[in-house]
Amino acid sequence: MTYDPGNIFGKILRGELPAYRVYEDERVLAFLDIMPRATGHTLVIPKAPSRNLLDVEPDDLAAVVAAAQRIARAQMRAFEADGITLTQHNEKAGGQEVFHLHLHVIPRHTGVELRPPLSYKETPEALAAQAEALKAALAG
Ligand code: AMP
Repeated sequence: MTYDPGNIFGKILRGELPAYRVYEDERVLAFLDIMPRATGHTLVIPKAPSRNLLDVEPDDLAAVVAAAQRIARAQMRAFEADGITLTQHNEKAGGQEVFHLHLHVIPRHTGVELRPPLSYKETPEALAAQAEALKAALAG
């Protein structure tokens, strides 16, 4: 299995596709999932090309996890979450749809189930507002 730079997240990284970007550093980019399983659902990806957990460089993986922690803490405040769920899929059999490594960071509220994957498309207005709320919490 090799990395294909034509994947959607590769295009977002290169600025060829828009995204609701919320966090960036030298190794990592984070943006909102446009089909969120819960409000504020965020994806964290390494800037370096990697298909998934099976081929990522450990330093890039560590950077992704560290960014996910920052985002999780900010989500708790921005979305008044009660908890956070992390998910991460590897290869088709593992549920992966986009073949650039990504960690899902999903705010949770007590008693609220996750939506099934790809079942709900958030409005652009809501995504823009959620991105602003999360960026403000990350800055504060
Ligand atoms: P996975 O099954 O782990 O590969 O998840 C891929 C995720 O990417 C899904 O949750 C999709 O909703 C999400 N997704 C697909 N296209 C985009 C996009 N253009 N911007 C943000 N998220 C996307």
